[in-house]
Amino acid sequence: MTKELVIVESPTKARTIGRILGSGHTVIASLGHVRDLPKTRIGVDIKNDFSPEYVIPQDKRALVKEIKELAQDASTVYLATDPDREGEAISWHLIEAAGVDPKIVQRVVFHEITESAVKEAFEHPRALDMDLVDAQQARRVLDRLVGYELSPLVSKKLRWWGLSAGRVQSAALRIVVDREREVEAFIPVEHWSIGALLQKEGATGGKKANNSFTSHLHSKVGDKQALNIPDEASAKKLNDGLEGATFAVEKVQVRGVKQRPSAPFITSTLQQEAWRKLRYGARKTMSVAQQLYEGVTLGDQGSVGLITYMRTDSTNVAASAVQEARVHIKKAFGADYVPAQTRTYSRKVKGAQEAHEAIRPSSALRTPDRLRTFLNAEQHRLYDLIWKRFVASQMADAQVDRTTIDIHATAKSKQAYLFRATGSVLKFPGFRALYLEGQDDSDEDEAAKLLPTVAAGDALKNLGLESKQHFTEPPPRYSEASLVRSLEDKGIGRPSTYAAIVSTIQDRGYVQADRGRLTPTLLGKVVSDMLSSHFKQISDLNFTAKLEDELDEVAQGDRSWREMLSTFYGLFSTSIQEATENMPRQDIPTGETCELCGKPMNLKKNRWGSTFLSCSGFPECRNAKSTQVKTGVSCPDCGGDLMERKAKKGKRRSTFYGCSNYPTCNFAVNQKPVPEPCPECSGLMVQRGRITAKCTKCAYSEPLGSSEQSQGEEQEAEAVEA
Ligand SMILES: [Zn+2]
Ligand SMILES: [Zn+2]
Ligand SMILES: [Zn+2]
Repeated sequence: MTKELVIVESPTKARTIGRILGSGHTVIASLGHVRDLPKTRIGVDIKNDFSPEYVIPQDKRALVKEIKELAQDASTVYLATDPDREGEAISWHLIEAAGVDPKIVQRVVFHEITESAVKEAFEHPRALDMDLVDAQQARRVLDRLVGYELSPLVSKKLRWWGLSAGRVQSAALRIVVDREREVEAFIPVEHWSIGALLQKEGATGGKKANNSFTSHLHSKVGDKQALNIPDEASAKKLNDGLEGATFAVEKVQVRGVKQRPSAPFITSTLQQEAWRKLRYGARKTMSVAQQLYEGVTLGDQGSVGLITYMRTDSTNVAASAVQEARVHIKKAFGADYVPAQTRTYSRKVKGAQEAHEAIRPSSALRTPDRLRTFLNAEQHRLYDLIWKRFVASQMADAQVDRTTIDIHATAKSKQAYLFRATGSVLKFPGFRALYLEGQDDSDEDEAAKLLPTVAAGDALKNLGLESKQHFTEPPPRYSEASLVRSLEDKGIGRPSTYAAIVSTIQDRGYVQADRGRLTPTLLGKVVSDMLSSHFKQISDLNFTAKLEDELDEVAQGDRSWREMLSTFYGLFSTSIQEATENMPRQDIPTGETCELCGKPMNLKKNRWGSTFLSCSGFPECRNAKSTQVKTGVSCPDCGGDLMERKAKKGKRRSTFYGCSNYPTCNFAVNQKPVPEPCPECSGLMVQRGRITAKCTKCAYSEPLGSSEQSQGEEQEAEAVEA
C-alpha cells in the first residue's frame, strides 16, 4: 500500500503530527539540515556566480537513504518543516539530497501544531517557495564568505590563534563596545534633593502615620525652571532657609490615566520578558519555547502543540484565539474585564518578515494550572508567561488616578518655594489583575505613592526636612534582553537569529556576562575597533541593517540572491585586500606592567587555546605568565583580590577563584564571588547556577542581578511598554 510521507525536523514534532494525521501517513524527522556547506573548505565557487557546494555529512547519509526509499513508495511527499526561511531551506535540501521526484512534493505550512491548523494546512498545500530558500542560501553563503576570509586575517594581525570573526556578531559586538565606552567616559554629576515630610494641620499620628506624605522641592515660586542644587553647601543653605517655613496646599490635580496591556509576544519581546521575569537567557528561552511548540504529552490526549511558532515578528492573532481569550476572561474575571471591542495589534517591526502570528497559547482555555502536572518546571514557567501575556492582551484597560499636589512653602525670608508630591491609585486593575500578578515590588510601589486627601488652601505641618545626595548614573550595560531589543530597534538580526547572535559573541570570548550584564573583553574591544576602521560592511550598523533588508527582498522575490552577494562581495573583498596591506599588527594591552622590565604586558593566545600575559619587550624580555582575571571582590580572610584561575590538574581545567596573596593566604572558592556581601551575616556571596547568589557562611540566598541598577532598567523597560 502506498502511504503518504510527511517530513518534519524533529522527533517530537513528528510524534505530535503523527497523532493528528493518524495511520495512512508515515511521519519522519530530518533532525535539522541534511545538507550544508563543507566543514573543511569554503564551499562557495565565487567565480561561478557564488554557487554553493553542499555536502551530506556522514551522520546524515543513512537518513537520506531512508527518505529516498520511503519517497519511492509514497504517492505524495509532504514537507511540513517550520514556517520560515530556515524551514523552507531544510525541505529543499531534503528533496535535493534524496532525489525526490518534484512532481510528488507538496509543502504544507502551519503556525501551530493543532488538529485544526495541521488539517487546514494539508487541505491547502503549495509548492516550495524558492524565494525563501534563496534568502536562506544567501545568508548562509554571505556568512561563510565573511567568516572564511575575515577570521584568518584578524587572527594573523592579532597573533591570536583560532580567532573567529563573523558578520552579524560584529555589529552586536560593536553595540556592546560602544556602550562600554559610554560607561567608561561617564562622569557622575552630583546633585541634591530636598524632601519635606508633610501632614495636614490638625491631623494626628506622627511621621510614620499613613496620612503623612513626602514632597520634594521643585522650584522657587514664579520660576519655570526646576531648582538645581549642585552640592552640599547649597543644599544646606536652602535647608536652613526653610526652617520654620509655613506649608500650604496650592493646587491638587487628579488625572485619570488608562493603561493598555502590552501586545502578545513576538520573539524579541518574549526573550526580553523571559530574561526580566525568569532570568532565562535568549537561547534557553528559545529552546524551551520550541518544546512547547513541538508538542508535550498531555496524558491520554497524547502529544499536543501548546504554543504557536516561536520565531515571529508579527503581533497578529487569529480571530478564534481572541474569542477563546474573551470567553476565559469573562468566566475568570467577570464581564467588566472584557473590553467592548476586541483588541487588534498590528505592530510592524523594521523589516517584518512573512505574515506570522504572535506567540500565544494554542488554546487560551488550557490554563497554566491545568498543565502543571504535564510540564517540567521550565516549560511551565515559560508557558505561564506566554499564556498570561496573551490573555492580558485581550483584557480591559487598567485605570489609574495620578495625583499631583503642589505646595507652597513660605520661608521666614518671605521667599516662596514650590514643593510637589505625586502619587497614583489603581482605580480598576483591568489586565493588571492577571499580568502583574505576584509582582510584589510594583504593588508596594503603588501603595507607597498613595497620597492622603487634601484640598487647595489646606495648611500643612512640616514633620521634617531631608537633604539627599544623588549622582547621575551611566547608561546601564546591556543584558541579553536589552541587547536583543537594541538589535531589533536597529534592524539587525531577525527572530531566527537574535538568540544565536547574543550567544555567539559570548561563546567566542568577545563579550562576557557578569551577573547578566554584558561587557566586552579586552579581545572584544580590540577586534571591534579593528573591524570598525577597516570593515565598514561588517561593523557599521546601518550597513548591517540594510543587508538584512536586502535578504528580505530576496525572500519576497524582489531581488536576485546572486546579484546581492556579488555587490556585497565586491566591497568586502576590496576591504580584505586593503586591510591585508594596511591594517597594522595589533597587540591586546592589558594595562599591567612587566615586573622585570617595566614594559606593558599584552594578552596572547597560543595554538593550544590557552591565554597568557606576555611582555611587550619580547624578545629582549621573555617574561610571560598565566592570565589572572580580577573578580573585583575582596578576599574575606585577608582583604586581597580574589582572582579567576584555572586548576592545574584535571582534564577539564576547571575554573576557581583564589586569593591574590597565595601562598600566604589559601582562601579559594569554586563558584564565582559576588561583590555585595551577605546582608544577613556579611559573609562572602557566590553565584549558584545562573540565577541565584548564595552566602558561603549562612543559608541566605537571593536572585542574581537584583542590584539597583538592573531593577531600575527593568522598571524603565516596563514603563515604555505600558
Ligand atoms: Zn618585561
Ligand atoms: Zn586572602
Ligand atoms: Zn550569610
